[in-house]
Amino acid sequence: MDIKIIEDLVCPLCQGKLKISDNLANNKDLIDSGNIICGQCNQKYDIIDGVPKFVVKNIMQDEETVDGWGQQWQILSPEINEYFYKNAYTRFEEYSLTSEFFQNKKVLGVGCGSGRWSKIAAERNPKLIFALDLSAAIFTAKKNLSDYKFIHFFLGDMAKTPFQTEYFDFINAVEVLQHTDEPLKTLKHLVSLLKKGGYLTFSLYNASADIIWKNKN
Ligand SMILES: [Zn+2]
Repeated sequence: MDIKIIEDLVCPLCQGKLKISDNLANNKDLIDSGNIICGQCNQKYDIIDGVPKFVVKNIMQDEETVDGWGQQWQILSPEINEYFYKNAYTRFEEYSLTSEFFQNKKVLGVGCGSGRWSKIAAERNPKLIFALDLSAAIFTAKKNLSDYKFIHFFLGDMAKTPFQTEYFDFINAVEVLQHTDEPLKTLKHLVSLLKKGGYLTFSLYNASADIIWKNKN
């Protein structure tokens, strides 16, 4: 975890400011393990293998499902699956998500899995990408995308994120909302993280519409 991004994060429970625990504030730029503490509610969050874990017990989804997804991603996608990569790549072309579009953009990918979507976004060189997943797949994503220093990885719930409101220019939530307890509530939460004029893409399995593309106004 890059120590600089702590200033851009908030406590998912109370939106308070976060700090790295004192014993780690020793001028290291990258932190592999330790704690993040909320200055307001004192909630502690672990950093595991360089990934901050913003999961609080009472907001976790069914643990079996979460673990199941992590295992599935790790078994199926130790690397980014070629078929899924191509599929997502085609979407980007279809929606004209070019390097020009991503210039200077702050991007969030929720339910990022092993990171295929984040990889395609990263190849277009945005200002930064935050990639979030509620399963161990996040560690696979981190490994797969280690070349991109502007991608930051988070273990956490897309319905209760450690991000500031009106922070992102672009959020991708394709085929993930149905994994949350209250998809509509999650969607509203994600919209609150978008800047005015920002974009959100999302879709649901089995929905008649394909990807829904929204511009916040
Ligand atoms: Zn807090």
